[in-house]
Amino acid sequence: MVERLKNFINGQWVDSRAERYEPVVNPATKDVIAEVPLSTKADVVEAVRAASDAFASWAQTPVPRRARTLFRYHDLLMKHRSELARLITVENGKNLTEAEGEVQRAIENVEFAAGAPSLMMGDSLSTIATDIEATNYRYPLGVVAGITPFNFPMMVPCWMFPMAIALGNTFVLKPSEKTPMLGRVLADLLTEAGVPKGVFNIVYGAHDVVNGLIEHPEVKAVSFVGSKPVGEYIYRKCGEHLKRVQALTGAKNHIIVLRDADLDEAARNVVASAFGSAGERCMACSVVAVEQVIADDFLDVLLRRSREVVMGNGLDDGVFLGPVIREENLKRTISYIEKGVQEGAKLVLDGREKMNQDGYFIGPTIFDHVTTDMTIWKDEIFAPVLSIVRVKNLKEAVEVANESEFANGACIFTQNASAIRYFRENIDAGMLGVNIGVPAPMAFFPFSGWKSSFYGTLHCNGKDSVDFYTRKKVVTARYPVPDFS
Ligand code: NAD
Repeated sequence: MVERLKNFINGQWVDSRAERYEPVVNPATKDVIAEVPLSTKADVVEAVRAASDAFASWAQTPVPRRARTLFRYHDLLMKHRSELARLITVENGKNLTEAEGEVQRAIENVEFAAGAPSLMMGDSLSTIATDIEATNYRYPLGVVAGITPFNFPMMVPCWMFPMAIALGNTFVLKPSEKTPMLGRVLADLLTEAGVPKGVFNIVYGAHDVVNGLIEHPEVKAVSFVGSKPVGEYIYRKCGEHLKRVQALTGAKNHIIVLRDADLDEAARNVVASAFGSAGERCMACSVVAVEQVIADDFLDVLLRRSREVVMGNGLDDGVFLGPVIREENLKRTISYIEKGVQEGAKLVLDGREKMNQDGYFIGPTIFDHVTTDMTIWKDEIFAPVLSIVRVKNLKEAVEVANESEFANGACIFTQNASAIRYFRENIDAGMLGVNIGVPAPMAFFPFSGWKSSFYGTLHCNGKDSVDFYTRKKVVTARYPVPDFS
């Protein structure tokens, strides 16, 4: 019998009321490692009640004391970083080095959140009229919820709850049902760090839990990271329930390679960006727009480097490319490859040849001569499949990228400062890389997708996250000068 996961409510691991459980599968071995409950709305009500009860005293806990709890949490995460990384590899499939990178990025969010005393300060003006001053205070919202995807089981929850709770909110997390194991360690370490019961809760499940959270009147804000259709649904539903919401969604990131780029360096970065984490990254490169005059030379280097990619179980030394998350993702990837061939793109590297029945493996796949009317260019495939679009020049490359409905990240490889400036000023994307393949901003900058890659106003991370998880109170006060006679 594999273990059945429990929800974390009011500081306790408790049985879900779920009638249905889903297997949690190691995608590199197809082993079932646990079962996750598809919890009910009644489970959500219980978690929100616990979070709501905890809010009054947590919000009143002095901010420096909350920050010290985050410092202790930071130290515990550092102590357990190897265990956390290993767990990420086992449940998600990405290689251990990438998993270690994820742990590091997650911990940086805790470091940032520990700055709550400065981040939460308001502002004031001593004299707005005769004897009158105004002060702007920040307060937490109350119970807030996070709904997270499978591809970063530690980092994405850490975009949300460390800052939310440091600012005095209480939190209910609904992790991806595909990668639910990390949440357990995150919760246990929060308890060890001294976070009071009810401040952080986990309800495992799928759409019933999501709907339960959005519909609950005590949930004041919802942070979502995941695919575009689900993000659009959540954004609309939060509007219907008059909730504050941030929804970070899908992507189709372009890397532009110009004729003066260091081609080997550009190819190395493209391989890491397109095939790292099996292409299951919202900042993964999905399209290279390369200048026609160097396209053949670039493709030669890219193919050489892509053929060197070692595929396998991410726990094994030297493995770069792990599996995609589930069999349905593998089948979907294969159908996109078939579609690319049907639509006339030239398949120059076929990952299907490297498929391996031990897990949901598919090798690096590259299509050349892709055009913007093709499905493989339009859709987010979220797998190690890369499209090459040959362009006349930078202007055309930017036009191609801007045709996409998505606008998460975009990169350029060039030595030309004017080209970099043109790219920066004209590209539609919120996170840009210059001679960098994965321009994911660090915790203190916003994760700032545009267009269909983001719905809302305030992004995760950076000062946006402080605004998202707080509300303001402006006090205007008259202090008549005392009568000193
Ligand atoms: P997903 O949308 O399938 O799932 C995300 C969350 O939504 C999960 O917790 C899931 O249980 C829940 N969910 C799924 N279907 C639902 C439904 N019908 N109703 C309510 N909730 C539902 O996404 P995923 O496959 O886990 O993750 C991959 C996606 O996430 C990709 O599109 C990727 O680009 C995106 N992503 C975006 C960012 C970003 O910052 N923009 C970061 C990471 C991942």
